[in-house]
Formats: sequence, structure tokens, C-alpha cells
Amino acid sequence: MTKLDVMLEELVTANRILAREGVVDSFGHVTIRHPDHPDRFLMSRARAPDCVEVSDFITFSLDGTPLDAGERKPYLERFIHGACYEARPDVHAVVHNHSPSVIPFGVTNCKLRPLLHMCASMGHDVGVWDSQDKFGDTDLLVSDMDMGRDLAKFLGPGRTALMRGHGAVVVAAMLRHVVFTSIYVEVGAKLQMQAMQMGEVKYLTDGEIDTIIKRVGPYTLNRAWENWCRRAGRPMQELD
Ligand code: MN
Repeated sequence: MTKLDVMLEELVTANRILAREGVVDSFGHVTIRHPDHPDRFLMSRARAPDCVEVSDFITFSLDGTPLDAGERKPYLERFIHGACYEARPDVHAVVHNHSPSVIPFGVTNCKLRPLLHMCASMGHDVGVWDSQDKFGDTDLLVSDMDMGRDLAKFLGPGRTALMRGHGAVVVAAMLRHVVFTSIYVEVGAKLQMQAMQMGEVKYLTDGEIDTIIKRVGPYTLNRAWENWCRRAGRPMQELD
């Protein structure tokens, strides 16, 4: 198998895991930057993530132009991914989702913050991008590069941004990490809503978040990945 073949199998697995863990449903997507061509990214054709297979992947340039789609229809919101890769050379994997527990934090003034050590990867400050601010009344879908670039600019150097009335975007330097963060953003949002009903919440400090993020590496990611692979019915691949 070439490096690309391995990455595509891994991307199928990421799609299935995100579906199995409730981060995506019929909608939402996960992509990787092309391992050999940093000016391209790889994304499934428009299909529910739990159904995605290797033959579904299309190569895109960073402006969202499909390069080898043939008759296959791309996702409308591919511009979220292209704009994040364009703005952030450090980013090699992107998830866009409508993860249910994060939605309330996008439509209220209650800020999503990590309160559990596993959730530190969401970052210190999870802001809410509102498409209304610049684009007015739309269908809320990020359906061109203008919107994608505005969202990527809002994300800045961050790891996670919420999208008002819509969902979230999560970025990372590697695929297993973006899946890990996406799952624990959903977990953290649910826990925060529960904790807030009980009283004043003590969140992780900035120093704690930074310390935890430094420790999130293969030891942690591979242990979670093996378990999530089993739950999603996918083989665990050894990566270099
Ligand atoms: Mn969406």
C-alpha cells in the first residue's frame, strides 16, 4: 500500500468513527490534506459519513474545485475545509459537524469551555462565528470561498470554532487528533450543560489546558483510536 492508500483507509475509518460516536449523522464531513500535494485535500463525495468508502474520495484544490470527481457530487460545504487548509499550513485534518450538544453554545451567550481534562484539545477560547454578521440572511451553509475564508479567519490560530445555528469546525495537525477533539467537544458540551444546572462550574485553567495539550500524542490518540475502531467495525492500522 502507498502512503496515500493507507491515509484513505484511515479517512474511511475516521468517517465511520465520527458517525458511530454521534458527532456526525447524515451530515457533516472529515477531510485530510493530501499527503503528497499540500495544495490539495481529500474528501468524500456527498454521502452520509457512515456510508463512506475509499472509492468515494475526491481530490480538491484548496479553493474547493474538484479535480477528479467525474459524475460524483461534492459536498456543498467543502469550502470550510479548503479555507482552513489555505489559512493554516499547520492543519492537516478538518472536521465540520452539527454535533448536537454544541449547538446551544452557538445560539446563547454561554461560552463553551473545557471542564474535563479530556476536552482540553478544544482550546482556551471557543468562539462563535455568525454568518449573519457579514453575509446576512443565508441558508447558513458555507457554500463559497468568501464564507469559508471568513470562517477560517475567525478561527485564526485556534482549534475549534462554533458556527451559530449550524455546528462547528475543528482542525488539527493529524487525522486521529481532529477526530479525538471532535468527539471530546461533544462530550464536553454535554457535561458543561449538566454541570451548569448544578451550580457554578470550575473550568480548566489556561495553564492546565496548555499542559494537557502538550501531552496529547500517539500514546493517548492510538489508545482511543483502537477502541473507536472496534466500535465502528474497522481495523486498527499501524501508522509510521
Ligand atoms: Mn454544515
